[in-house]
Amino acid sequence: MCAAPLDAPHRHLLDLAARELRCACRPCSVLFAQPREAPSAEEGGGGRYRLVPDRRWLLDDFDLDDATWDELGIPVRMAFLFHDAAAGRTALFYPSPGGPVESPLEPALWRRLEEANPVLRRLTPDVEALLVNRTGAAAEHWIVPVDDCYRLVGLLRTHWKGLAGGPRVWDAVGGFFTELRQGSAIVTPAGHPTHIRGGTR
Ligand SMILES: [Zn+2]
Repeated sequence: MCAAPLDAPHRHLLDLAARELRCACRPCSVLFAQPREAPSAEEGGGGRYRLVPDRRWLLDDFDLDDATWDELGIPVRMAFLFHDAAAGRTALFYPSPGGPVESPLEPALWRRLEEANPVLRRLTPDVEALLVNRTGAAAEHWIVPVDDCYRLVGLLRTHWKGLAGGPRVWDAVGGFFTELRQGSAIVTPAGHPTHIRGGTR
């Protein structure tokens, strides 16, 4: 965002116009945290950037059955969904070795998910995503900062080999979800934290 040197763990700002993430130093993060806390109905020039939050919730007892998952029509076992405020809709993406791929999402299907899982109403538009992991035997659902989703996409881009990905990419994906589990609060379908794992979030 500015020319300041960055610490290894740092926050990101989403450029809403370009839909790109920009690395932010601590003062920039603090500066841009304010409009999010007091959002104006009509964002002016100051509304171009939004600070990506850093909460990570593992959603306990999330209601997404196999039939609904199949309806999403995703060719891999991972997906992420977020509200696109400018477009006024929820967008569905999945990670691929070629980058994030958008897939059509029926608005009615999203409404059904929201009704079954009221915690989804807590998603901050544009900067937080519902992340679904069905790799291996997993059936896990998270609310995560969108930059986590792009980090996952980056792992596929970097480590994917051949047709099935190869062992390195699946090790990397497994490590990503292990780390996410360790840094997440466990939250009930209504949006109440049950306990915090491994962190202070
Ligand atoms: Zn800065």
